[in-house]
Amino acid sequence: MHSPQTLEDRRDFLARCTRCSQCKFIAMPKSQRHASACPSIDYGQFHAYSGGGQLIMAYGLLDGNVPHSAEMAGAVASCTMCGNCDVSCKINFAETVEPLDSLYALRAKLVSDGHSPAPHREMMEALHRSGNSRGHPRTERAHWADGLAFDGTGKAETLLHIGSGLAYEPAGWPALRAVVATLHRVGIAMTHLGTEEGSSGGLAFDLGYVDEARTLAQELIEQAQQTGAGTLVTFSAAALSAFRSIHPRFGLSFGSIRVLHITEYLWELVQQGRLSLAPLPDLQGRPVAYHDSCKLGRLSEPRGTQDSGLDNQMSGILVSRTPSALRFGNGGCYEAPRALLRAMGVELVELERHHASSYCCGACGGVKETVPEAAALAARNRLAEVQDSTASILVSACTGCTSHLAEHAGSAVQMQDLLGLLAQALRPAPALAG
Ligand code: SF4
Ligand code: SF4
Repeated sequence: MHSPQTLEDRRDFLARCTRCSQCKFIAMPKSQRHASACPSIDYGQFHAYSGGGQLIMAYGLLDGNVPHSAEMAGAVASCTMCGNCDVSCKINFAETVEPLDSLYALRAKLVSDGHSPAPHREMMEALHRSGNSRGHPRTERAHWADGLAFDGTGKAETLLHIGSGLAYEPAGWPALRAVVATLHRVGIAMTHLGTEEGSSGGLAFDLGYVDEARTLAQELIEQAQQTGAGTLVTFSAAALSAFRSIHPRFGLSFGSIRVLHITEYLWELVQQGRLSLAPLPDLQGRPVAYHDSCKLGRLSEPRGTQDSGLDNQMSGILVSRTPSALRFGNGGCYEAPRALLRAMGVELVELERHHASSYCCGACGGVKETVPEAAALAARNRLAEVQDSTASILVSACTGCTSHLAEHAGSAVQMQDLLGLLAQALRPAPALAG
């Protein structure tokens, strides 16, 4: 059984942080105004809030030179676990520091030492009690599917994984139901896990609850395998990230089940000629920006089970044994959402921070629940970036990003969920339409 690295396992990585602060900025920024990589330091304005600053605290904690404190807990809790520091650090230091892995280990250390913030503990209690961190009743998890014209549970070739964000968000259900109905019309045999759908374990891992994350991941994998599905399609950016990047840290996988995000799956069906997309008149002639969700983008880059074992010496520096993937975050889900938007006739513009360097909306990593003012500032920073572009419409393919950014968008930026646009534009390809 593989286990994620502990802070002790990360000792050499912590020691190699040069305190250069490159992790505070994206590579090759286009402007000083939008050069920041890190929503946490934008909020805390003190080194301890950055990726590198957290590594110094972690090193001190490990050796007993730094005690637990409210200040440390506050800085750690302000980190969205967005991974942008990891991308920037690797520009100079490749796999020799990898701050994100140490941030995961630091949070796990806080949990094991009894210093997990109260909101994190409450989220975990809700996860135990009802399978979602907000404590919604499990009996309501499948209300989105009420009245759908097909029997949705049981065995089928394609398993739909909804994720708690969308499953408990009634505003998103019409789009979800419309997309599912279109898939039904083109003959996709689908099933879903109904009220029994479990958590991916990704949130538990982000919060430092490693054992709980492993258990949740194992349970969901067993549930999926019992359906006999050959393909799992998730509507959740956070779940995709867990499936591709967190589960391998435990040596876990869905085995022969292919795992896709809904945007990847729909784009595949469009390319196969089974689905087509109609132009959306409301968006014609209006530049649209696409927000790369951290979870859907850099954090869904696939990860192997043995990354970054540093045991070779090169000019006195430890480097990884080969082959070891160097994950810059470029292998995430970036192109399918953009391809779908272009196929709807949308004129896409890139924000200053995009793809692997995208700026976090602020909602993830438990920050929205623990340090809401930090989450709000990140959203405002991201929306300011849109206002500084030629776009006034921002599209996200992540339910959490969409709802968090929409809370702060005001009238200057129109927030759109990609699933909602797809629900309007998707139709069976003409040859298949009955
Ligand atoms: S984590 Fe990396 S980029 Fe940040 S200060 Fe340390 S070495 Fe520099
Ligand atoms: S994971 Fe994100 S919020 Fe946390 S230190 Fe790194 S860049 Fe900042």
